[in-house]
Amino acid sequence: MSERVKQLIDKLEKNNILSREEFICILEEYDTEDLEYARSRGRSIAKEHFGNAVYVRGLIEFTNYCKNDCLYCGIRKSNKNAERYRLTEDEIMECCKEGYALGFRTFVLQGGEDGYYTKDRLVALIQRIKAKYPDCALTLSIGEKTKEEYQSYFDAGADRYLLRHETANEEHYNKLHPASMSLANRKECLKNLKEIGYQTGCGFMVGSPYQTAETLAQDLLYIHDLHPQMVGIGPFISHKETPFCEAPNGELEPVLLLLSLIRIMEKKVLLPATTALATIHPQGRELGILSGANVVMPNLSPVSVRKKYELYDNKVCTGDEAAECRNCLQARMKNIGYEIVKDRGDYKK
Ligand code: SAM
Repeated sequence: MSERVKQLIDKLEKNNILSREEFICILEEYDTEDLEYARSRGRSIAKEHFGNAVYVRGLIEFTNYCKNDCLYCGIRKSNKNAERYRLTEDEIMECCKEGYALGFRTFVLQGGEDGYYTKDRLVALIQRIKAKYPDCALTLSIGEKTKEEYQSYFDAGADRYLLRHETANEEHYNKLHPASMSLANRKECLKNLKEIGYQTGCGFMVGSPYQTAETLAQDLLYIHDLHPQMVGIGPFISHKETPFCEAPNGELEPVLLLLSLIRIMEKKVLLPATTALATIHPQGRELGILSGANVVMPNLSPVSVRKKYELYDNKVCTGDEAAECRNCLQARMKNIGYEIVKDRGDYKK
């Protein structure tokens, strides 16, 4: 174990922040023992705040139409081979019904930036879900909108919003996105979401093309500054129909290290062990929880459309019914001493 890395992890736990150079030092110099040390600190901080409870979110991938062309993403508009679909309002309500019966108390509406779902349609949908399930939290993950649109969704009853910043380094951002998108706008959106009062989540892919220890350090500093209620991270996984089809996938260890560092820095943050993590390792979700994550997000979308929401190749759990996913996750969590709870799982101030 490197004494320097261990000291820096302890310093992060104490001060909730490190300098850019100190983060870079951890990211460049950590060895297996350092990783285990960070994971054990992350795990124990999560235990302090959440005990052995794991929050569960029912993910409804309601459209894969997208006007954007993010270079890494399988549902980018230039992917002419993507089979496009969108769920109707009634189909979405069916997903919620099934999820509610299975004990879910948070629904996440995630999708591409689909022009069909106008502000008015979304407001009507949000109102309908919240009227039927007033005891549930509703999270949106539908990309960049105007502040006025974000306000309308919030007024309609949406509680949380996930918008990964993807990378806090502008040059890096521009290598992952077309010229029509900018880091400045992404950050503006996140600022607006927080101002409106959403429980807000940012995040990034680990191992995305052109990522370095330096850009990751900037991600951690940005998270510290934004102080979000949620952070979503998972490995980059290449998709065959994108410009990054030949790029290597993100690796397990850096994802686990970053989950731990985020938990050590933002102690109460809601931090999922993602499906992408489960895709690169058969025990990915368990390893994520044992590194400080405290949320899992199984899929509630109808099995008939699951494979079509293909952000990356070989995504797991695309063939299982919601109930199977729920039971499988419950068993997996139990196996490592944790329990999925029937709770909205809000951020605790
Ligand atoms: N359109 C919304 C947005 O941009 O926030 C939500 C959907 S978007 C597909 C959700 C997230 O998927 C992105 O923020 C990105 O980090 C992740 N993602 C996309 N392509 C990926 C890939 N190839 N590997 C891993 N994650 C990916």
